[in-house]
Parts: sequence; structure tokens; C-alpha cells
Amino acid sequence: MIDEKQISEIVRKVMSDMDIHSKPARKQLGVFDTMEEAIDACNRAYETFRYYNKEQRENIIKEIRKLTHAEAETMAKLAVEDTKMGNVYHKILKHHLVADKTPGTEDLETKALSGDRGLTLIEMAPYGIIGAITPSTNPSCTVICNSIGMLAGGNAVVFNPHPHAKRISAYAVDLVNRAVLAAGGPENIVVTVENPTMETSNIMVNHPSIKMLVATGGPGVVKMLLSSGKKAIGAGAGNPPVVVDDTADIEKAAKDIIDGCTFDNNLPCIAEKECFAMSSIADKLIDGMQKNGAYFINSQQTAELEKVVLVDTTDKQGRTKKVINKDYVGRDAKKILAQIGITVGDDIRCVICETEFSHPFVQTELMMPILPIVRCNNFEEAMEMAVKAEHGNRHTAHLHSKNVDHMTAYAKAVCTTIFVKNAPSYAGIGFNSEGHTTFTIAGPTGEGITSARSFTRQRRCVLVDSLSII
Ligand code: NAD
Repeated sequence: MIDEKQISEIVRKVMSDMDIHSKPARKQLGVFDTMEEAIDACNRAYETFRYYNKEQRENIIKEIRKLTHAEAETMAKLAVEDTKMGNVYHKILKHHLVADKTPGTEDLETKALSGDRGLTLIEMAPYGIIGAITPSTNPSCTVICNSIGMLAGGNAVVFNPHPHAKRISAYAVDLVNRAVLAAGGPENIVVTVENPTMETSNIMVNHPSIKMLVATGGPGVVKMLLSSGKKAIGAGAGNPPVVVDDTADIEKAAKDIIDGCTFDNNLPCIAEKECFAMSSIADKLIDGMQKNGAYFINSQQTAELEKVVLVDTTDKQGRTKKVINKDYVGRDAKKILAQIGITVGDDIRCVICETEFSHPFVQTELMMPILPIVRCNNFEEAMEMAVKAEHGNRHTAHLHSKNVDHMTAYAKAVCTTIFVKNAPSYAGIGFNSEGHTTFTIAGPTGEGITSARSFTRQRRCVLVDSLSII
């Protein structure tokens, strides 16, 4: 007997595989040749969408969640193909996480103040059309996560994605438009351009129709948006340290750290980037990491690797400094090790080494599955180094410890938006943990783990001497 469900699943899979390797057969929805055209279309669509109530917005969000689940694998493959970074399996998990745990309209709360002088309502209203800049590291996840939160808040969105992730970002914009249409909504409340550039970004940022800006990326883009003169949310770079003290369950800490550090090949901004371990447990920790897919390289191999993954660049003042070699960002540990003549199997997912605190692997946000480990004499020294290595980004920090005094002291000292204890870093965005998810963690501007409410503005409605019914 023909199983229709099975056949349609096969057709979907074949279609999705075809999509990956060929140019889209049809014009993608919401994807325009120029930024001006994209913003014009969005403006027109917003005239309808701005009158949508929460139920109508929620129906759209339901469809976005459904399509994101259905096309998670397609997007994961396309993201890796488009950006040459990351891990397909982990990207599939990230898409399901976005679909399941990005808050919708339930995140919007009305406040009512009633008393002798009447009733005052405070409601969370849309900004209008938001201009959003998205990174290459989580391209479709950020587009979908931002779309859910921004549409839930009643806004429309114009995306200027990272040029190195333009195909997968356009795919995600098309998916959101397909979901909107399936829910009976207007096309183009989420738009982008086929070829995003700095020029299209400038047009978007300065366009009078764009009422709010949201940047997810490194320090350059956050600085640019914050100097735009518009309301802006900045989700910037991190360099999350992980501290391990002598009260921790060391075997679990070793596994958790490697699991977190290697998730999507270390692309997430929250992933463990350097480890500060108390000397008394450092050997056991390194041993545990090696049992969990880490390959330890000695100091000579570390020096060789440094020449591969970091390159010299000259800044505007003529000073030379080391920056990451983008060819190795988000690449497999196996490929990175091969560059220094080490051949390993697929079971190796992380490169670990021992370094000094000042080593560039500690100080630089590599976004590669390379974890430098610094031995520390005591907890206080580990904490002090971790705070310095975080560079005041106010982003993310991790700790493995059973000592609540250590937890409290470190949390107070490091001042990060996310602080994870005794779990892999991804617990910080609701993966196998409590709490909602986001792919836009706004440390610099303080919205934190952004959600629909972050993309709204308060409006007050006052009625005097009536409708207080007591
Ligand atoms: P990136 O900074 O190179 O690019 C991010 C986006 O900004 C891209 O769309 C890019 O085209 C644009 N851009 C960069 N500089 C710009 C400028 N001066 N003017 C206008 N646009 C500019 O980042 P990436 O390599 O794609 O992503 C990695 C970085 O993003 C890391 O530093 C990571 O920590 C950070 N990140 C932060 C979060 C967060 O939620 N805080 C999430 C993901 C990534």
C-alpha cells in the first residue's frame, strides 16, 4: 500500500537536497534586488500588518515554527555550504531550538493601574519597521529568531544579513514569507536583499522608514549602529571564559566543556573560548577532556597552530596586530589539526593546549574548536583571569563548581549577561535548560536574552475618573 506520508517526506527531502545545490528555481519571497525596493515593499505590507491583532500575529508565528521544524535539515546543510562553517547536525538542533523556544506574543504583557482617579493602561507597542543586521555564524537561526520576536511585537523587519551567508539568510526570509502567506498574512513584512553589502546596510540604517535597529555581530557593527542616532539594540562579541575549581565534578566538567566548546564548531558567541583550571584538578580535567574527543597538543604544536589560525593585520594607525584567520573559523578540529601535520579520526572534535594567560588563544575570540587551558594557583586567581579574558564584553561566563561562595563571587565580578554553572555553554540559551532562547544576546545595550518585548515600546492610555469599578 502506498504510504502518502512517506512519499511526501521523500519528495520534500529530494526537493530540499535540490535546493541546496542549485540556485532557487523560483524568485524567493521577500528577497529584492535593491534595498530601496525591499524597504518600499515592506512599507506597503506594514500598512496591512500594523492592524493585526495578537491572535493573527500568533497564527503567523505558529506557521514559522512549523516550517522551521520541517526545513531544519535543509537550512542546516545550506548554512554549512554557504558559509563553509559549522556542523550540520548541531545546526539542525539549533533550528529546532529556535522553533520551540523563541517566545511569541505571550511575551507581551499589559500593565493596568486602577485607582480613585480612573484607569491607566501601559501596553507594549511596535516600533514599526526594524532594520536588522545578522551574522554569518548563526545566519538562518538569527533571521528566524528575530522574525518571530519582531513580528510578535507587531513590527515588520528588513534584514541586511552577512554577505558570506546571503544564500541561507535569503532562504530563511523566504521561509518566513511562506509562513506568513500560509497564515493568510501579507507578503513582505519580512524582507532582505539578494546581495547584502556595507552600502545596502548604510541605506537601511539611514532610511527614514526604519524606526529601530538591531545588530547581531562583532564590535564593528554594534559600534556603527549605536552611533546611528536611532534606537538600537546591540548584540556584540563575547569571549566566554570557563572556570573549573576543585569542588567540581571534574569528569562531568570535562565532558560539559568539550560538548559546549565544540557545539557547531565553537561558532556560538556563548561557547567556551578559554578555560581557567585550578592546578590541583588540571591534570584530571585534561585527562577527562581527552576521553571526550579532545586532542592535546604540546607547546611546540601550539606555536605552529598559532601561525595557522592567527594572521597579522595592520590597523588604520599603522599598528600590527593579530586577528583570526577566517579560513579556520567554525571548521572541524580534524581539519585544523591537519594544518600542523596531525592526522586524527572523526572522533576528535576539539584541540586543547596549555598556555599562559597572555596567549592570543586566550585573549582572542577564535570561534574555532580550540580550547586553551590556563593553570591557576587558586580560585581567586582563576576568577581574576577569567574576568580579564572576558574583556568587559558583559556577554557570557561559565563555572564548574559546587561552592556557592565561588558561584556568587564570580557572578558578581564578571557581570556577564549569561552565567552558566555546571552545564555546557548552550544551557545559557535554553538548550537542555530552563528559559527561552535567543540568537541575539544584547549585552552592550542591556536587553539581555532578547524576545518580543525587547522589540516594543511602551505606550500609556489614561482614562480619568472612570472604569475603576470598585
Ligand atoms: P561580523 O561582525 O563580521 O558581522 C555581523 C554583521 O555585521 C554582518 O551582517 C556584517 O556584514 C555586518 N557588519 C560588520 N561590520 C560592519 C560595519 N562596520 N558596518 C555595517 N555592518 C557591519 O560578525 P560575524 O563574523 O558574522 O559573527 C561573529 C561575531 O558576532 C562574533 O564576534 C560573535 O561573538 C558575535 N555574535 C554575537 C551574538 C550575540 O547575540 N551577542 C550572536 C552571534 C554572533
